[in-house]
Amino acid sequence: MSDKVVTRFAPSPTGYLHIGGARTALFNWLYAKHTDGTMLLRIEDTDRERSNDAATAAILDGLSWLGLSWDGEAVSQFERAPRHREVAEELVRMGKAYYSYETPAELEAMREAARAKGLPPRYDGRWRDRDPSEAPAGAKGAIRIKAPTAGETVVHDRVQGEVRFPNKDLDDFIILRSDGNPTYMHAVVVDDHDMGVTHIIRGDDHLTNAARQTVIYDAMGWDVPSMSHIPLIHGADGAKLSKRHGALGVEAYRAMGYLPEALLNYLARLGWSHGDDEIMSIKDMISWFDIGDVNKGAARFDFAKLEALNGVHMRRMSDAELFDIFIATLPYLEGGRRWPRASTTGTRRSCWPRCPA
Ligand code: GLU
Repeated sequence: MSDKVVTRFAPSPTGYLHIGGARTALFNWLYAKHTDGTMLLRIEDTDRERSNDAATAAILDGLSWLGLSWDGEAVSQFERAPRHREVAEELVRMGKAYYSYETPAELEAMREAARAKGLPPRYDGRWRDRDPSEAPAGAKGAIRIKAPTAGETVVHDRVQGEVRFPNKDLDDFIILRSDGNPTYMHAVVVDDHDMGVTHIIRGDDHLTNAARQTVIYDAMGWDVPSMSHIPLIHGADGAKLSKRHGALGVEAYRAMGYLPEALLNYLARLGWSHGDDEIMSIKDMISWFDIGDVNKGAARFDFAKLEALNGVHMRRMSDAELFDIFIATLPYLEGGRRWPRASTTGTRRSCWPRCPA
């Protein structure tokens, strides 16, 4: 692995860039900037039913407004499906994965049997050691990875510490569906490897995925990137963040008149701190940020604090700067004229799937 840090932000385009996603992007961006590395952007549009281009455009727009620029072109995960297939088939050739042919009814019976014993539903490995010649004629089959059955898989996480997963809880999960499409678990690993990602920084709802993904890395003999699973953002009352708490798309904050600097300052302080410094410029954040300093505990979103920070950042600006921002923001302000969205915002053009040459 090269010494240069490569991070990535990998949103699923199923909705706007919400505040939690924006903070994940910010931490990836800050860490890349702090280490003089790069941040890549991958749109995880493999799930065709849930993904849509309008959401992708909104995500690119939100990142651009915040000034969280990415390096190179955004990568479409869906477009890489042939490569995901290739790696899955390679794992079969290496004897690290196998085709399985159970029917939905067989799978349901397996789940039922596990439930009856009070165990989590897991695949029983019935095709793991069978000869390929036993495959039912004409059946396509899904590819499953041979997960280790004994010992444990350890995720060395820079935020969560060493997290151990007993391998008896990891079953032979599917990496390629019988229709030839990769699962999310597999696509992420192949993409992160091929994109040269050295540091994965994402929400801690992905921590258990990290164990399964480690199984794929190990099977391919690839280096596991450094992992950092950052705590999710909760509302001021400690409950999971909802719209009521401010879990809005970043464009809603633009429409309410928040400055990107203030929002970034606020998001950076959610789960990370630098001494008692509350007010930070983007330059400060870049020079002070380190992923190892992020806290394990859930962060709480507090609108009143954001509001106060916005005021501070506004007062720090000259009238001329503020006026320019006001004019640029006018089309987006709440209740303002519904002008067409600008196609060029912030530091980067928002085009999808790629910018014209
Ligand atoms: N696409 C996933 C999400 O939006 C992120 C996957 C990852 O970062 O590995 O939650």
